[in-house]
Amino acid sequence: MTAVSALVVCVSTTMRYQNRTNMDLFRASREVIPGGVNSPVRSFQSVGKPPVFISHAKGCQVFDVEGKSYIDYIGSWGPMILGHANNEIVQALQKAVKYGTSYGLPTPIECELAELVCELIPSIEMIRMVNSGTEATMTALRLARGFTGRDRVIKCAGCYHGHADSLLVEAGSGATTFGHPSSPGIPERLAHLTEVAQFNNLASFETIFHEYPHDIAAVIIEPVAGNMGVVAPLSGFLEGLRKLCDEHGTLLIFDEVMTGFRVDRGGAQALYKIQPDLTTLGKILGGGMPVGAIGGRREIMSRLSPLGPIYQAGTLSGNPMAMTAGLKALQMLRVSNLYEILENLSADLEKGLLQRAEAARLPIRINRVGSMMTVFFSEDEVVDFGTAKKSDLGAFSRFFTEMLNGGILLPPSQFEAWFVSGAHADMHIRKTLDVAEKAFKEI
Ligand SMILES: *Cc1c(COP(=O)(O)O)cnc(C)c1O
Repeated sequence: MTAVSALVVCVSTTMRYQNRTNMDLFRASREVIPGGVNSPVRSFQSVGKPPVFISHAKGCQVFDVEGKSYIDYIGSWGPMILGHANNEIVQALQKAVKYGTSYGLPTPIECELAELVCELIPSIEMIRMVNSGTEATMTALRLARGFTGRDRVIKCAGCYHGHADSLLVEAGSGATTFGHPSSPGIPERLAHLTEVAQFNNLASFETIFHEYPHDIAAVIIEPVAGNMGVVAPLSGFLEGLRKLCDEHGTLLIFDEVMTGFRVDRGGAQALYKIQPDLTTLGKILGGGMPVGAIGGRREIMSRLSPLGPIYQAGTLSGNPMAMTAGLKALQMLRVSNLYEILENLSADLEKGLLQRAEAARLPIRINRVGSMMTVFFSEDEVVDFGTAKKSDLGAFSRFFTEMLNGGILLPPSQFEAWFVSGAHADMHIRKTLDVAEKAFKEI
């Protein structure tokens, strides 16, 4: 289908919204949906604009209700590694939908996807499917606490692990963008059980372990941070965490909701060769449908109900539509040379942006791991939450607006990752660099 015919189909199915602008829709939706969005990161509040309302998307492009097209680097915040409306995924879903969309009973496809994840990520011996990354991390914490009989956990400032109570403490992503890294509504007594360390700073973990040598159930971490903007682990950091956890009988949880199947088909744990005890997955795992998962060592996973006593459940978990999209996506990632292509495209984008910023005498830093990257408007290296927060948010906001006006859609926050997909091609990177060249000069 061409872009034009896709637009016609889409418009005809949403007649109600014909001739309505982004602003019209924002005005209407914010009356009935808090902030007009169903997830805060979709708001353009921090860059002072109404959000774009999307009518449809194909490949690396999204189209808004006003008919404007954008080269998309949000990628639905990570899942769209194969691009939007990927033909094979669409066809698999069209075929599957006829057989019913939910049974509340086990299906063969759940087993097939579980086997494939265990093959791609060997530290996962057993896996349970859930519906979102938040559910996955929430379950991971309960499992770690139930397994170890301990209550305290350590997370890093600026890492985001979904919006469960224990994890919304100094959290990144939208929580940082909108200035509520630790949300009201979370009982203080519960928040006190979450200790906060600094990313890339082993000493900050050692201090906490020193204070509570027998009380830490788990360290949960994004092995490549993506929710304070992208921050790669310094050499030795993840190894050090593995060692500290082993010495203290603490479980190491890698939250790979973003990095899983993104930085490598085996996740960040394959890239850095560190085995966690538990892994949480989401985003790409669902192929664009809502899926999360928690997996890990058999000994720990066996404690989940009904095999063990630690309770977790879900009416729509392992949903056949979601499993169909996820299985198709992972099958395609397993056999293709996509990761090489993504590395080359993303390296070109990084290099081109650095050259153009330098020509405009604008100090920026780019952190990139494979196809996830962030341009920080900062003179200093960004290695943790503190250094990420030193960025010039005004400059980011002006850059974002120039890019948007030029047809390039970036995440509307300094503290988020950009995602390159297999549907991006050289010409899209070139167009992005052309718009960026102008944007760097004008901000
Ligand atoms: C997106 C994300 C989550 C939350 O997943 P949802 O599906 O939005 O609930 C958790 N952890 C990390 C690292 C993420 O990037």
